[in-house]
Amino acid sequence: MAKLSTPFEIYKLLPQTNCRQCHLPSCLAFATAVLKGAKKLAQCPFLAPEVAAQFAGRVEARTSMDRNMEDVFILLQKDVVAMDLSARAEAVGGRMVGAKLALTCLGKDFFVHPDGTVTSQCHINPWVTVPLLSYVLEGAGENPVGQWVSMRELVDGPTWNALFAHRCEMVLRNLADANSRLFADLIGIFSGRNSAPVFAADIAIILAPLPKVPILICYWRAEDDLESRLSIYFDRSADRNLAVEYLHTLGVGMVSMFAKIGHQHG
Ligand code: SF4
Repeated sequence: MAKLSTPFEIYKLLPQTNCRQCHLPSCLAFATAVLKGAKKLAQCPFLAPEVAAQFAGRVEARTSMDRNMEDVFILLQKDVVAMDLSARAEAVGGRMVGAKLALTCLGKDFFVHPDGTVTSQCHINPWVTVPLLSYVLEGAGENPVGQWVSMRELVDGPTWNALFAHRCEMVLRNLADANSRLFADLIGIFSGRNSAPVFAADIAIILAPLPKVPILICYWRAEDDLESRLSIYFDRSADRNLAVEYLHTLGVGMVSMFAKIGHQHG
């Protein structure tokens, strides 16, 4: 039997109603999560148990996450073509520039075109553009409530928390340990700002990778026998504006961008 190895192949099995009962914002997000091993087909309550059982053994996880992201991006682009960008602009904290939807992310303008392409003066890659399109298409457009929580406190957060800690928080902590200017650079280059004292952190800065999805980065310096620590917090509303799996994706894309800057500055 043929394997299911792309998000689209899994998506075709699903009801495609985007009802969110699987705690993800769309059937496509669910298909992607199944391919990554974060969800089981049987967790869609509308898929007949015999169908879920029939296909469960045929899901083949992608070894190349970049390839996976490119597939998802193409599917999301098709949904953008069918939508009225101007009707979404206000809800997602963007503005129209001609026919394009402009979103300010990390202080830079990103433009979503009516054909679903994304352009920016920044380096574009699917780790950033997939969350951005998902935010435009599926986000609830809720305003931040000003309450910081860890990823594990968000809906579906426990599934992604360990990976997020490993691929984002640990990498960023190592960068901060090696580069004392890192946080000043992040504030300068990405329009961050210092937060009021919080969680007794030595450094706490706020960045906005999407207009209504702020993050708080807290860093505790090494002290005596204690190693340094770094945690990334989200606004309590974050999981309604962007599925947690895409918060994870966005985090990986962002941290790899910060790593490049860290290397440039030695
Ligand atoms: S539960 Fe999830 S996968 Fe199933 S139909 Fe609803 S949104 Fe789609």
